[in-house]
This record gives sequence, structure tokens and C-alpha cells, in this order.
Amino acid sequence: MVKGQAVWVDVARCKGCGACVEACPVGAIALIDGKARIDQEKCSGCRVCVDTCPENAIQPVLRGELVTAPPRPVPAVRTPSPLAETAGAAVVVAGAGLLAKAGSTLARAAGRWLTQMLGQGRSPTTRGTPSTTGNRGAGGRGGRRARRRRRGG
Ligand code: SF4
Ligand code: SF4
Repeated sequence: MVKGQAVWVDVARCKGCGACVEACPVGAIALIDGKARIDQEKCSGCRVCVDTCPENAIQPVLRGELVTAPPRPVPAVRTPSPLAETAGAAVVVAGAGLLAKAGSTLARAAGRWLTQMLGQGRSPTTRGTPSTTGNRGAGGRGGRRARRRRRGG
């Protein structure tokens, strides 16, 4: 017995003449349903049958040579340097500080606006509505021209 399969039969070509059966030194070939059949357990791999068959129906099994693949390159694992980690932390801290500063600036601006609105007697929600007191605009009773007109001069 040979390690692995040494020969194989192309049944489409086999005519069942029995020449290989007679030639095999170990009796590994038999005719089954008119076609040569090889007992792989008995076959010694001598390949006599390959040269005997007039139909070239028995072929040797060709094995490719195994080539060991080169080792695959291991991808480098990038670890952040201590400097990069420190820089990243500094950026985070600076970002948080800027946010806090912007928030306090916004709050101060809102406070100033509210104070202004209340000082003018306006409601912050009814911006632009004229007040009944202290309005010296065109619609009020104040103004130099109006006083002159009332006096007749
Ligand atoms: S290779 Fe040799 S032992 Fe195997 S079947 Fe052919 S003649 Fe027989
Ligand atoms: S010698 Fe060839 S054709 Fe004849 S039985 Fe064997 S395999 Fe078939």
C-alpha cells in the first residue's frame, strides 16, 4: 500500500480489456461493471498499469509540491506616546475652560440686558412697547416743538 492515491482510472476511457488487471503485480485492479477499479489498500504505487493500459485510461496522481508560505508580517500596534497623552489631556482641559468662560460671558450679557430692560420700564417680553411714563419719542407729549405749539409760539 502506498501513502495516498498513486493512480486513478478515467472510466470514460476504460474499455474493460483487462490488460491492467493482468499486469498489476499485487492484484489491486479488478473489473467491475466492465470498468477497471483500483483497490487503493492493495496498490503499491508501482504504476505498471499506467504503462500497460492501451487507452491511457489509468493516470498517475500528480501532486503539487507544497511551498511553505513566508511568515506574514505582524501589524505594528501603535501605542500613544506619553507626550501625545499629555497633549491630549491639555487640549481637553483647555476646551473645558473655554466652554466655562463662554458660558459666564453669556450669562453676564443676559444680566446686563435684563437690567437695561427693567431700567427703561420695559418688560423683556414686550420689547418695543412704549411706556406710558417717561417716553419722549414722537408719539409722547414731550418735546420742544409740542411745548411751543401749546404755548402758541
Ligand atoms: S500502480 Fe501498480 S500496484 Fe497500483 S494498481 Fe497500478 S499496477 Fe497495481
Ligand atoms: S487496461 Fe485500460 S482499458 Fe483495459 S481495463 Fe485497464 S484501464 Fe481499462
